[in-house]
Amino acid sequence: MIDIFYPDHAPRTESALFKKTKHHLIKVLDSACWVCGSKDKREVHHFHAEWADSEGIDWDKMRELHPNFPWSSFNEASDFIDSEYNMMVLCEKHHRGKDHGIHLLPYPIWVMQRNQLPTFVFSPDEVK
Ligand SMILES: [Zn+2]
Repeated sequence: MIDIFYPDHAPRTESALFKKTKHHLIKVLDSACWVCGSKDKREVHHFHAEWADSEGIDWDKMRELHPNFPWSSFNEASDFIDSEYNMMVLCEKHHRGKDHGIHLLPYPIWVMQRNQLPTFVFSPDEVK
C-alpha cells in the first residue's frame, strides 16, 4: 500500500512544445514503446518530472541531476517538462494500463516488464 500526494491542478492542456515533442518522437522518429516495443496506441510519458509536481520542483537540483539538458534555453517549467529530454514513449498499456502502467505501479516493480522473459507471469492478466 502506498500513499501519494498528487497536487490539485487545473485541467491540463497540451503545450505547443508538448505537441511538437510528441509528434517528433512518434510520427518522425517512429519510436516504439520503451517497455514492449509495440507501436500500437503510443503515448508519451513525462519521465523525470510530471506537470502535477511542476510547482514543487527545485530546478537547481534538477540541473545537477540532468547536466545534459540544454539549460541555457530554460525559461520556465514547461521547457524541461514537455521536452524530448523528459519524455518516454510508452504504449497505452505500459503508460496507464491496469497492472502494467507506470502511473499505477512503483518504479522498481514497473521496470521489470522491460526485461521480462516471455515465460514470466508479471500480472494476473498474463496467467494462462
Ligand atoms: Zn508497451
